Amino acid sequence: MAHCHEMKTGEVYVCQTCGLEIEVVSSCGDSGACSCTEPVSCCGQPLTLKA
Ligand SMILES: [Zn+2]
Repeated sequence: MAHCHEMKTGEVYVCQTCGLEIEVVSSCGDSGACSCTEPVSCCGQPLTLKA
């Protein structure tokens, strides 16, 4: 699962269904402004951290 406040700069997240890959260029973790309650998702499933 990938809540955006847990996503760190430089990490790559992937959609297991369609193969979309997203790299975090700037994280929101330090801003304290994030109000997300759902994980970042694609194809109806949470993105997963690419190993
Ligand atoms: Zn997808």
